[in-house]
Amino acid sequence: MTRKPLIAANWKMYKTPAQAQEFVKNFLPLVARHERDEVVLCPSFTSLSVVIAAVTGSGVAVGAQNMYSADEGAFTGEISPLMLKAIGTTHVILGHSERRQYFCETDETINRKLHTALRHELTPIVCVGEVLAEREAGKTEEVLLRQTRGVLAGIPPEHAAPIVIAYEPVWAIGTGKTATPQIASDAHKVIRGEVAKLLGAEVADKLRILYGGSVKPDNATALMSESEIDGALVGGASLDPQSFGKIVNY
Ligand code: PEP
Repeated sequence: MTRKPLIAANWKMYKTPAQAQEFVKNFLPLVARHERDEVVLCPSFTSLSVVIAAVTGSGVAVGAQNMYSADEGAFTGEISPLMLKAIGTTHVILGHSERRQYFCETDETINRKLHTALRHELTPIVCVGEVLAEREAGKTEEVLLRQTRGVLAGIPPEHAAPIVIAYEPVWAIGTGKTATPQIASDAHKVIRGEVAKLLGAEVADKLRILYGGSVKPDNATALMSESEIDGALVGGASLDPQSFGKIVNY
């Protein structure tokens, strides 16, 4: 099964609209005619529109870093999938570990968002991954199984095709410690195996599982060479166009 790799930039809470626009100006020439991978930029909500306008016609897609699970309503400060769709957003990151850690997101709230994203035809990049204490206690597999089951609860196999999962071991995010290709590959096998049980072998076979956690230009090739790794979710190293360009062109 060949799965088109997806490489996404998670800019977190960095870049004003002007800085985001400047990034795109410098980044697009580095990936002109790049077709091997799906490339997605995920700026803050306030930069979505300028980035969407700036990438028009380039083949680069734009995603949000979060969204709410309702279409509209009295939810002060939240952003709805309808609003994201209306401006041309095509992807959305759900359940990033920073959302789980600082904003109390759980498998249950992420699951609700996933149902909503699929209903609105946004491509969801759903994050799972263990914290250091869980890895050290030998609980990585248990955590990945619990999170995979939780975020995918109630998703019918026939609606699951757009789902992308990002395995992001929390101990590797922003720390400079990368999972070895073997560690990442083993985790991806656990996730894919569970998806096969939940949604069937065909969905599991087609599912793209990205690795995220201190991906840099100098480790991207080794990680992406693993057949189980179908792309990357990149934080810090995606803030600089040259560095992210090198990762995309691994
Ligand atoms: C991320 O934010 O999803 C991430 C993986 O960050 P970093 O690449 O900086 O570890």
